[in-house]
Amino acid sequence: MGKIMIDIGHGGSDSGAIGNGLIEKDINLKVGLMIYNYLSRYDVEVGITRRADIALSNDARVELVNSFQPDLCVSIHHNAAASAEARGAEVIHAHYDNYDDKLATAILENIGNIGMPKRRIFTRLNSRGDDWYFMIRRIWDNNTAAIIVEGGFVTNSKDAEMLKKEDFLMLEATAIGSAIVEYLDLKPKVGNWWDGSMERMKTEGLIQNKHNGNEPVSWGEFATVISRLLDKLQQ
Ligand SMILES: [Zn+2]
Repeated sequence: MGKIMIDIGHGGSDSGAIGNGLIEKDINLKVGLMIYNYLSRYDVEVGITRRADIALSNDARVELVNSFQPDLCVSIHHNAAASAEARGAEVIHAHYDNYDDKLATAILENIGNIGMPKRRIFTRLNSRGDDWYFMIRRIWDNNTAAIIVEGGFVTNSKDAEMLKKEDFLMLEATAIGSAIVEYLDLKPKVGNWWDGSMERMKTEGLIQNKHNGNEPVSWGEFATVISRLLDKLQQ
């Protein structure tokens, strides 16, 4: 089974880009968690570098990814520029590869299809001829593809208007997630991991119907199930 790491840029004291009332670290987290949930429906192991508003050093971030040994690491970012005119999505891939650029192209195409302008796909090298961005330079090798997505400019009012909407962030996550699914040819999970437990709860009379395991449970429902369980234990 394949492995994908979702790397959520910035966090904690590191806000990332700021503009038009948006803070990059927050949008990254929302989109990243949505991509995580999207990919969790597929037959692939998904990791994530952060699930909360916490700061990660570059070393800690790289260590999290490299110890997970993913086939693909996708870093989620949103952009800023000195000029408020700069807008659109960018995808950065490793310079010395012959496959990452296909994923980069697919991601940018998908993001373009939801209305965010396609700015560019690019690679960047430092003076030593290595990849400029540490999340590519220190992650990418022949076993691990590494991509950085910049989903639009918080400093551009039109991009920011889109990025402020939760619905748009969901579309962005789906655009990125579906490109990954196609690129890695992922298959949907057969059945659900909770099916067995749900069946048992129903058989034991703790619940009347099987539920969607992704749905939240209210305190009322939780108390009812525990109460039925206690009744059974006391029988
Ligand atoms: Zn960033």
